[in-house]
Amino acid sequence: MNTIVVHYKELALKGRNRPWFIQLLVRNLKSALAGLHVPAVRSLMGRIEIELGRDTPWIDVRERLTRVFGIANFSCAGQGPHDFDALAAAILDDLGDRQTPSFRVAATRADKRLPFTSPQVEREVGGRIKDAKGWHVDLDRPALTIHIEMLPERAFYFFGKEPGAGGLPTGTGGRVACLLSGGIDSPVAAYRLMRRGCFVLFIHFHSYPILSLASQEKVREIASVLTRYQQRSRLALVPFGDLQQKIVLAVPPDLRVVIYRRLMLRIAERLARKWHAKALVTGEVIGQVASQTLENMTTIATATELEVLRPLVGMDKDEIAAEAQRIGTFPISIVPDQDCCTLFTPRHPATRARVTDASAAEEALPIEEMVTSAIASTVVEQFKFPVLELPAGHGP
Ligand code: ATP
Ligand code: MG
Repeated sequence: MNTIVVHYKELALKGRNRPWFIQLLVRNLKSALAGLHVPAVRSLMGRIEIELGRDTPWIDVRERLTRVFGIANFSCAGQGPHDFDALAAAILDDLGDRQTPSFRVAATRADKRLPFTSPQVEREVGGRIKDAKGWHVDLDRPALTIHIEMLPERAFYFFGKEPGAGGLPTGTGGRVACLLSGGIDSPVAAYRLMRRGCFVLFIHFHSYPILSLASQEKVREIASVLTRYQQRSRLALVPFGDLQQKIVLAVPPDLRVVIYRRLMLRIAERLARKWHAKALVTGEVIGQVASQTLENMTTIATATELEVLRPLVGMDKDEIAAEAQRIGTFPISIVPDQDCCTLFTPRHPATRARVTDASAAEEALPIEEMVTSAIASTVVEQFKFPVLELPAGHGP
């Protein structure tokens, strides 16, 4: 069995964009499997066929495929001819000495012009397997389902299906830029957008050398984990410590967090535009911390004209943590570090900062100059999966 049959969610791919979606999924599959011996990945009448080299380990392929978005399910499959005797023989051969209390054959036809019906395939092939194995047929709750897919020239067969990552193929949703801290929430926010087909750029604000390098190291690790889902990523590391010091000197304590965030959004917007990203993403959640009230979130977002997407806005912390576990970012996020926003942060931030208050406070600051200097000293790093990190480059 050296074929993989990949099924995508038909409904999501209906309409004019369908060929383009499938083309992107094929491209993503090829790059996700890079480095493994995979002679061909091709679209084939409503499914995708992946040819495996003789000694390509299914375990490795499976691991990679579970992280490719746009897949409903996939199976390791064998191939046989249309002839029922020969097809049943091929299936029996691959079943080997496998045992099961009950089974059924579930057949589909990729082409409705084929000279047999699906129930006929199920009866004919199922009957032959039953005769050879003596297994009990259970059409409602079989312990083993043998799937057969009839294509114009040949048939695929497989035993069971692996669940795919769901979502939509990377690249179909456009580009967005995620403000990525070392915390639990923003990596999950980035993942949510990736899963909807967006290509996500990462932007991290750090306060090195005032604080340690820890937050950058954490974010690099998080970026590596997330890159496994979109195959290549870009991380912008923006020095923020000097800017925070300027804010501390000019802005009353209770408004500082809101002003930090507004400045972050302005810088992020500039980077996003440079990278042709169409929206910003944050890990904000209503009421999670004092700075994340509806009033503050609204005031913060008016600093940018870009749409601010907050995919976690209505989630509970434990739901977010569980998702971070599944994605693989949780153990990195919980390592203690000094976040730049804990620096110079007052004990009692304003919970209802108004836009007029924020704008008034910002009058004392050279905002445009601050944004420009932050962009000029931003360092951009590239990430790739399955290939390891590329060397760091300078400047966005
Ligand atoms: P997270 O778990 O993502 O750090 P949080 O619960 O700590 O979020 P805040 O610190 O209020 O919440 O941050 C809200 C959002 O602002 C974050 O989810 C993230 O998108 C962005 N953000 C905060 N700090 C940074 C930073 N240092 N670099 C980039 N983005 C940041
Ligand atoms: Mg945080």
